[in-house]
Amino acid sequence: QPIVLKELTVRDQQNGKLILDRVSCTIKPGEKVLIVGPSGAGKSTLLQVIAKLLDTTNQFEVKAESYQVPPCSYVFQDPDSQFCMPYVDEELAFMLENQQVASEDMLAIIKKMLTTVGLQKDQPHTPIQTLSMGMKQRLALASAMLHNQECMLLDEPSALLDPDGAVQLWKEVAKHSEGKTVVAVEHRITEALPHMDRILLFNHRGQLVANSNATVFF
Ligand code: ADP
Ligand code: ADP
Repeated sequence: QPIVLKELTVRDQQNGKLILDRVSCTIKPGEKVLIVGPSGAGKSTLLQVIAKLLDTTNQFEVKAESYQVPPCSYVFQDPDSQFCMPYVDEELAFMLENQQVASEDMLAIIKKMLTTVGLQKDQPHTPIQTLSMGMKQRLALASAMLHNQECMLLDEPSALLDPDGAVQLWKEVAKHSEGKTVVAVEHRITEALPHMDRILLFNHRGQLVANSNATVFF
C-alpha cells in the first residue's frame, strides 16, 4: 500500500501555528525515503501524521485532500517515549504478539534480534531503564523491526549512536526492510543515503520544497 498525501496541512490549534503547509507526495510500496530540513521544519510531525500518532482532538488540526497510509512500525526520536514494557524481553515479546509466533519460539527470535542490533543477548530480562541511551536506541530499532509492519518510520534513529554504530544501524535497517517502505528523518545523511531512493527537503515553514531521486547524490 502506498503513502499518498495530497495538500496535507497541519496546524497547532493552540497557537494557530502552521506546522506543515500543503504537503503533497506519494511514496510507493518498498520505496526508501529520507526526510531532511532544518530543526522545526515539521519532519517529526510528518512521521507522526503517517503513523496516525498526532493528537488531533486537543492539539493539532490535520487537513488533507487525500490521506492514505499503510500500517507502520515506528522508531521514536526519544526511545524512552517508545517503550510499553519495563523489561527488554517483555518489550520485544509484546511486538511479536498478534503475529502467530509460538511462545516457545519467542526467546530465540528475541535473542537473534538483540544480536542483530548490537545488544547483548544473554540477559534479555533486563530493566530497560538500566540501559544507556545508545542501547535504548538500539532496542527501539529492534522493537520496530519485530513489529514488522509494511512501512517503517524512523525519527533520527542513529542520533544517540557513535559513527560506527550509525553505519551499522543503517546496514541492518536496509537488510531488514527489503520490500518494505522506509521513511526516515536522519541528520546523518552520509550513513543513510546509500540505502535511500528519494529525498524530501522541507523548509522552516513546513513546505516540501524539493523531492529528488537519491541517486543524483552519487
Ligand atoms: P529535531 O527534530 O530537529 O531534533 P524536535 O523535533 O525535538 O527537533 O523539536 C523541534 C522544535 O519543536 C523545537 O524547537 C522544540 O522546542 C519544539 N518542540 C518539540 N516538542 C515540543 C513540545 N512538546 N512542545 C512545544 N514545542 C516542542
Ligand atoms: P522537526 O522534526 O523538523 O524538527 P517538528 O515536527 O518536531 O520539526 O516540529 C515542527 C514544529 O511544530 C516546531 O516548530 C514546533 O514549534 C512545533 N511542535 C512540535 N511538537 C510540538 C508539540 N508537541 N507542541 C507544540 N508545538 C510543537
